[in-house]
Amino acid sequence: MQTRIVVEGWTKLKVPEPEHFRTRAGDYAPSLARVFYNPHMEFCRDISVSAVQAVAEELGELRICDPLAGVGVRGIRYTKEVKGVLRSIVNDRSPEAFELIKHNIELNGVAGLAEARNSDANALLWENRGRFNFMDLDPFGSPAPFMDAACAALARRGMLALTATDTAPLSGTHARACLRRYGAKPLKTEYCHELGLRILVGFAQRVAGKHETALEPALAHATQHYFRVYMRARRGAKGADEVLKKQGYVSHCNRCGRRVLSPGLVTELPSVCECGGRFSHAGPLWLGPLIDRTFAKRVAGDLVRRNFRLRYQELSLLNRCIEEAGGPATFYDLNEIARRAGVSPPKIGALIAELREMGHFASRTHFSNTGFRTNASLEELLRVARISQI
Ligand SMILES: [Zn+2]
Repeated sequence: MQTRIVVEGWTKLKVPEPEHFRTRAGDYAPSLARVFYNPHMEFCRDISVSAVQAVAEELGELRICDPLAGVGVRGIRYTKEVKGVLRSIVNDRSPEAFELIKHNIELNGVAGLAEARNSDANALLWENRGRFNFMDLDPFGSPAPFMDAACAALARRGMLALTATDTAPLSGTHARACLRRYGAKPLKTEYCHELGLRILVGFAQRVAGKHETALEPALAHATQHYFRVYMRARRGAKGADEVLKKQGYVSHCNRCGRRVLSPGLVTELPSVCECGGRFSHAGPLWLGPLIDRTFAKRVAGDLVRRNFRLRYQELSLLNRCIEEAGGPATFYDLNEIARRAGVSPPKIGALIAELREMGHFASRTHFSNTGFRTNASLEELLRVARISQI
């Protein structure tokens, strides 16, 4: 296999030569390479480095597991770039990946802290029950097949980070695949990515519940191509029960755009909207906060100090997350609201200022450039959209 050396953050990595793995259209396709490395995820991994640093400060020393490591980029970057990592296991079941991981550990001088492993991810995790206080499940596709073992391998207190690249099923394009993998119904709406992220969190929490572990999101973000979530984990049946109380359903009326949130896993859902339209439902999913503002601020503060190549884009995402923390579940789309109000779209900044003036929560959202979050009622929102035309 032809390789090349790349630098990401403060880490050097030997990776498969991208020139050899292209689609017919000529784009680099990481999934074609025999060892997985996606250069486009540098943005996501930089944020992860700062998130791991923030967790290290909360928990003291970290024992990290990167069970689906590919070339080892996440596990090795955390070990090298984060202060407070006591030990890390960087694993991939492919023998070629294992050779690259060993090489990359040596290349970065972290052999004393990082250990390369060549096991099946689930086998490795079950063998290490209760051992890790930072776990990063970063699969190609869905993390669902590894969730049980990952929850079992978490220590009494820790953090579980997840990536899901199967955003189409989670966002409602392949509803049956979502039901099969995550046990929940998605829904195609203007905020379907948020619903997908909440379905992913809800699924992880129900699996963790089997292990008497509570998972609560500290930071979560989404793009078209992947969802990423960091959840604090705490062992204890009572905490796990409390978390499940904040799961429920979102009912959406296609006719007027109204949303109704129904907490509880066993609950009656509304069928007919006030406007006479019928509701469609998504869930079960997490209805609680996706972002802990204090945590997100600490991650942003750490990123500022690191001088990464993509820091401006990374900080702009985190600032949006900080702004929308504390807002209600589900956001609105400016163009959709303007269409329903029968006006041309107002300026998003002016609309948010007006809603705040009225005493409501209002913010932009990282999910969409035309999205905004508010606790104003639909009627108030339509009225403000009409007023802001004058
Ligand atoms: Zn309606």
